[in-house]
Amino acid sequence: MGTRDWGLGIGKGSMTNVGKRRAVFLDRDGTINVEKNYLHRIEDFEFIPGAASAIKRLNDAGFLVIVVTNQSGVARGYYEIEAVHRLHAFLDKELAAVDAHVDAYYVCPHHPEEGVGEYRCDCHCRKPMPGMLLDAARKFGIDLAASFMIGDKLADVEAAVKGGCKPLLVLTGHGADHAARVPEGVPVVADIGAAVEAIVTDEITGRGEPVCSP
Ligand SMILES: [Mg+2]
Ligand SMILES: [Zn+2]
Repeated sequence: MGTRDWGLGIGKGSMTNVGKRRAVFLDRDGTINVEKNYLHRIEDFEFIPGAASAIKRLNDAGFLVIVVTNQSGVARGYYEIEAVHRLHAFLDKELAAVDAHVDAYYVCPHHPEEGVGEYRCDCHCRKPMPGMLLDAARKFGIDLAASFMIGDKLADVEAAVKGGCKPLLVLTGHGADHAARVPEGVPVVADIGAAVEAIVTDEITGRGEPVCSP
C-alpha cells in the first residue's frame, strides 16, 4: 500500500493526515438559500436565516467552506451555466458584506437522462456520487474523514458517506421530507446554523472540545 502512487499528491509522503485541512461541504439550494425549484435568477435568491453568519463561523473556525451543488437545470436547458456562475458571484458579494466567504464552488450541471449535448451524461459528480467532494479533496488537500457535509437531501447524505466525510441533514428545503430516510446516526438539525453549531462545538463526535484549536 505504501508504494502506491495515488497521483495528485494524495497519499504521498506520510501516511498520516498531518497538514491536511478540514472542510465543511455545503449543499446550496435548501441549505444556504431558500429552495425555489431551479433557482437561477439573482432576484430570487433568498438566504435561509442565519446562513451567512453560519458560513462566517466556519471561516473563523478554520474550515474550508466548499459549496457542492447539483444544477441539472443546465442539462435540462432551463438556464445556462453562466447563470450559475453569476449567482455565485452574487452570493460572494453578499457574504463579503458580513466578512464571510466560500472557498470554492463545485457545480454538477449534468443529468443522466434529461437534456442534450455535453451535459447529458452519467457523470461522477452528480450527488449522490461523491465526485465533487473527491475533486475538492484532491485540489485542497482535505482530510475527508475529519470533514463534514451539510445538506437537505438524502443525496447529500449519501455523497458524504461515499466520500468518507460526516453528513448532517438540515430540515430546511427538502429536509423535512428526507429526514425519515436518512441512515441511523446521521444528525438531523433545524438548519445550517444549528449544523454549524454542532460542528464547531464538536457535538458530532461528542468529544466535548472545540473541533479547531485557536
Ligand atoms: Mg439542496
Ligand atoms: Zn456531473
